[in-house]
Amino acid sequence: MQEHRPSKDILSFRLSNGVGYWAPVDIPQPDRLVCAFSSRQGGISEGSFASLNLGLHVGDQLDRVLANRARFSQVLGMDLSHWITAEQVHGCHVAVVGREQRGLGAFSQDTAISRTDGLVTRDEGVWLVCHYADCVPLVFWDMRGRAVGVAHAGWRGTLASIGLATVEVMARHLGSEPKDLYVLIGPAIGVCCYSVGEDVAAVFRERFDGEFLCQYGDRVHLDLRAVNRELLIKGGIPPDQILVSRLCTACQPDLCFSHRRDKSPTGRMVGIVGLRER
Ligand SMILES: [Zn+2]
Repeated sequence: MQEHRPSKDILSFRLSNGVGYWAPVDIPQPDRLVCAFSSRQGGISEGSFASLNLGLHVGDQLDRVLANRARFSQVLGMDLSHWITAEQVHGCHVAVVGREQRGLGAFSQDTAISRTDGLVTRDEGVWLVCHYADCVPLVFWDMRGRAVGVAHAGWRGTLASIGLATVEVMARHLGSEPKDLYVLIGPAIGVCCYSVGEDVAAVFRERFDGEFLCQYGDRVHLDLRAVNRELLIKGGIPPDQILVSRLCTACQPDLCFSHRRDKSPTGRMVGIVGLRER
């Protein structure tokens, strides 16, 4: 395995058997936690899905996506049949899942957990997956308990407080206190590239008093990761336990799919988290 870090970030890029992905470095995490964000490198999909498209719902060929998922799983030492994925709808529903749900959405989009943007579990050997291609992937882990979670936060989900909803479900159903949670805010479209229309800008301006918006020439840009961080702090997560990557998906065509940059259709990357079984 070789490793290089183009610029200092909480995520380090790795290349293993040709498959590129990011993993956190030098941050507090429980034993046997596995957390990674895929890149677009190392798969077999073609055209606008080249090459490591991991989304089954974007019009790519099923056999190619499954081969890509198998490659990515192998590099991380996971069993694809232990993935759980959700049908992401830019909402704020969070599902508690466990070993019984393993495999849902792994081989067919039809079995993905319906109308859900957050997944949490306390079971080991379960890999929670969220898809993204600009939207903000959030990964959660409890330093004291054994719970983990993922969430998908585009601008709608961010406004709907999907991050907070995940924290609340982890507290209520898994016994994780916010003070013990770490949240990793992964690669996403950065404020550098995320211009928004006046309709979206107006909603955020009103909700956050103009914070998180800035003017780039004649366009208004939104810092979606910063909004998510702020909402998580309001939800009781200690600020120094919220780790924010600076990787912009739209700035890196070689490494990332970007819905904004590529237009539709394009591939999807995943954020994945879980605890290895003893
Ligand atoms: Zn950018």
